[in-house]
Amino acid sequence: MMNSKMYINGKWVESENDHSIEVINPANKEKIAKVPRATRKDTQRAIDAAREAFEEGVWSELSAHERAEFLMKIADKLTEKKDELAALEAMNNGKTKMEADFDVSDSIDCFRYYAGLITAPDGQTVPSHEPMQSIVVQEPMGVVGLIVPWNFPLLMGVWKIAPALAAGNTIVFKPAELTPMTAIELFKIIDEIGLPKGVANLVLGKGSESGQMLAESQDIDMVSFTGSTEIGRQVMKAASSNIKKVSLELGGKSPNIIFDDADFETAVDYALFGIFYGAGQVCTAGSRILVQEGIYNQFIDRLIERAKHIRVGPGMDKNVEMGAITSSKQLDSILDYVEIGKKEGATLALGGKRLTEDGLEKGFFMEPTIFTDVHSDMRIVQEEIFGPVITVQKFKNEAEAVKLANDTDYGLAGAVFSQDGAKAMRVIKKVRAGITWINTYHSNHAGAPWGGYKQSGIGRGLGTQGLHEFQEVKQINVNLAVEPVGWFSN
Ligand code: NAD
Repeated sequence: MMNSKMYINGKWVESENDHSIEVINPANKEKIAKVPRATRKDTQRAIDAAREAFEEGVWSELSAHERAEFLMKIADKLTEKKDELAALEAMNNGKTKMEADFDVSDSIDCFRYYAGLITAPDGQTVPSHEPMQSIVVQEPMGVVGLIVPWNFPLLMGVWKIAPALAAGNTIVFKPAELTPMTAIELFKIIDEIGLPKGVANLVLGKGSESGQMLAESQDIDMVSFTGSTEIGRQVMKAASSNIKKVSLELGGKSPNIIFDDADFETAVDYALFGIFYGAGQVCTAGSRILVQEGIYNQFIDRLIERAKHIRVGPGMDKNVEMGAITSSKQLDSILDYVEIGKKEGATLALGGKRLTEDGLEKGFFMEPTIFTDVHSDMRIVQEEIFGPVITVQKFKNEAEAVKLANDTDYGLAGAVFSQDGAKAMRVIKKVRAGITWINTYHSNHAGAPWGGYKQSGIGRGLGTQGLHEFQEVKQINVNLAVEPVGWFSN
């Protein structure tokens, strides 16, 4: 079992009271590591270190090129350790090694993208009254608290750490208590490449303790949170203490709209990929399939036929296509939703049970699950289940597809499948969501802004917007004729 520490002010430290959290492998419940559980005092130490580093200017006053060089070094070291990191991610989160390989590659791309972006010209000059000249510059926010969930432990962290550091902020990063392992490895790299002390700090601990503290602290200028809508609401409230900037990447219940004229096999394939990738523990999961009436029955038959054959098991097994649920608590919550769906009168067309055969009883595994005969006011259609569970609904025409698609409090993602390009475009433009696809699902790139409408969040990660999110904007007005204003007569 590994013994890991937190990284505060350039040093690896235990928690002040030696309390710890045990980290397990959800595929077999084996203990992977014991990590410190930060107290409020530990978290304050990290915040103080970040504040001091920011005020000293050891990072914010470096040139963009110098900061970019550090980010490129992190990307290079991640590349060297790519395979090892992906294996660790699969072991800690339960996802398949192939899924974890993509996460590490995307993390490397993200550091490289922001290293490039920060050195590109930015800012504006604004037409002003002569002899004034007005220019607009971007500056770092200051000290930023970063909080992420357990479903993409490294990638969700990097999506915040890379732009926050690129912009010149100092950071306190808190991964989810269930999945700290790849974050610890990333901070080993940060230590190795010699980032000035206090610039990047890692606190390991409970959301209700250190997470809450990052949100409410008076010494932090911004909190960037990825997680559930419920906790996002609490973070927003806590952040009001000093009117700190808040950016929120929250939950989803995303529609996947399949028209009669879609390429049938492609649509079925992406419907499966949309929900069962990551065992459905993906914020953008296509958890609501909407199918046009002409192909509805045929589509369900094919979906069931294919979903039945998905190979579920430990993520490190090369033959496995869908890994474990990350915790027993999450598995129980998914199983509760299956019961709720049955009670609401939906038809359980496939799955619905925990898998316990052939060695799977040691971990948290769940059958791919499909509900049909559902309607919009059912909880299983409205609430984020965050597991391998889909509902399938029927629609008649474009207008009804759009109405059903938008009929939840969420607005994170959505997709349309149709071979009529104009129709697909018409419909996707009416879907109230920030991340959308036509004839594909889940594709993304560090350069495209990521985030949700409605209760799926505030602000955007990734892309140029993702950098601006971590920047203040300042106007500088310069007088080109230095003489008195002459407003007062004496
Ligand atoms: P969660 O909200 O329970 O926890 C997220 C993080 O917040 C964890 O680090 C946790 O320790 C911390 N936290 C808990 N209570 C806190 C508090 N009071 N104050 C501050 N921090 C606190 O979410 P989860 O179960 O870890 O992750 C699943 C959720 O994340 C899903 O809703 C999913 O849709 C969402 N998610 C969204 C995106 C996106 O980009 N929109 C990406 C990934 C996951």
